[in-house]
Amino acid sequence: MRIVMKFGGTSVGSAERIAGVAEIVRGEINKGRQVVVVLSAMSGVTNALLAALKESANGNIAKLLQTRDELLKKHLDVINALVRDESARQTLIATTTDALDRFEDLCSSIYVLGEITPRATDAVGSLGERLLVPIVAQAFNDAGIPSQWLPANELIVTDDNFVAASPFMDETRAQARAKLAPLLEAGQVAVTTGFIGATKKGIITTLGRGGSDYTATIIGAALDADKVQIWTDVNGVMTTDPRIVPEAITLPEISYGEAAELSYFGAKVIHPKTILPVAAKNTPIEILNSFAPSQPGTLIVREPKNNGSPIRGITTIRNVSLVTVEGRGMQGVVGMAARVFSAVARNNISVLMFSQSSSEQNICLVIESAGAPDAVRELEREFQNEMRAQNIERVWAQDDIVILAVVGSAIKTTPGIAARVFTALADKNINVIAIAQGSSEYNLSLVVDEHQGDNAVRAIHRSIVKQ
Ligand code: ADP
Ligand code: ASP
Ligand code: MG
Repeated sequence: MRIVMKFGGTSVGSAERIAGVAEIVRGEINKGRQVVVVLSAMSGVTNALLAALKESANGNIAKLLQTRDELLKKHLDVINALVRDESARQTLIATTTDALDRFEDLCSSIYVLGEITPRATDAVGSLGERLLVPIVAQAFNDAGIPSQWLPANELIVTDDNFVAASPFMDETRAQARAKLAPLLEAGQVAVTTGFIGATKKGIITTLGRGGSDYTATIIGAALDADKVQIWTDVNGVMTTDPRIVPEAITLPEISYGEAAELSYFGAKVIHPKTILPVAAKNTPIEILNSFAPSQPGTLIVREPKNNGSPIRGITTIRNVSLVTVEGRGMQGVVGMAARVFSAVARNNISVLMFSQSSSEQNICLVIESAGAPDAVRELEREFQNEMRAQNIERVWAQDDIVILAVVGSAIKTTPGIAARVFTALADKNINVIAIAQGSSEYNLSLVVDEHQGDNAVRAIHRSIVKQ
């Protein structure tokens, strides 16, 4: 049996946590399994790298030097705690120091240029994984788990869409089979970096924030793995973020579609693209807690067993804005919605949610806040004639809102769920700004004020999730 085990940032957040990971991996080796380990950067490292990059572009070199020192200490602490082999330890200290010198060089050139490109963002952002993986592979060897590491930029071939690259699966499959399969067959654990790929020319890319989950399924699919395990810091996919609702419950089994929907609508526990490489092959994904390895976690499969409740979860998307096109003269005009969509698409802005009132006096879009000023400008340009004729009165953006999505495949077929959701919100005096029904068969989405977001999640959870 061949498995891919991915460990997220908190699961590798300290020497102690990494020692725990080694024991989890040993458990699988002892069962005779072939194991690929995919690692995220230590928690906080990617954020620190990217923040230092940004500060460098703003002319703040002190922040860069401080970050370099902190990251060096963080990784040297792990090396000193877990690597006993003296020559391996010295080598790792040297390569870690070198990598952080390169980070300093890169950020210094950004300081001079005063501008960050997506390519530079990936060169810097990918460093956390590249720093950690050789250290953990050596720690595994020291713990008696024979391991070899390879950076995923030598495995995953991507397009050049820096910051959100997509893999070319045929090339990736060929690389992964040529480089990883022989290690596995020789009884070695193959340890690789999450989050990272490289273009055909070998330039480093990343798969998007939180992308190590996606790495695990890309490699799982490339190697025809029997399953992919995603080890994180909670007991699986839960009915909502346990940081907002501590009584959230773990879902024992969900479908690929439900997992995709939950993550797309904000459940951070897995990256939204995670299921793409494996769903067609029907490879199961397990979401497990590295802090409580004996918990059963969540199994993601094509046809899950009935979990009892028609609701799979309540998710939130933040940092979004509601853009409204409003006017009495819009009624009955053919093609309005199409023109609205085309206008925002011209600016490469994707629409997260769309709703139109039945009186057709307004059309609302929810988009990421960063794109809101551009969207308003583009829509005003698109409808300048209608605005002059006062058929459209205004185009405006409302910030500080949050999308809530109630997700579950049975939502459409179970009467009364929407009523319970709206009653729960009304009871708490929470105003619903916009609704989108059936944006897919799996969910009901609504928009509320940002400051009422957490209360709204708690109210809905209490009213519709069976305890
Ligand atoms: P990792 O570093 O392991 O990739 P993440 O921080 O990316 O972990 O994702 C795990 C976090 O996702 C949890 O700590 C939890 O707060 C958050 N989360 C949000 N929604 C959910 C949900 N529906 N189920 C479980 N966790 C969720
Ligand atoms: N380290 C990367 C991030 O913080 C990837 C990941 O953790 O999955 O986004
Ligand atoms: Mg994550």
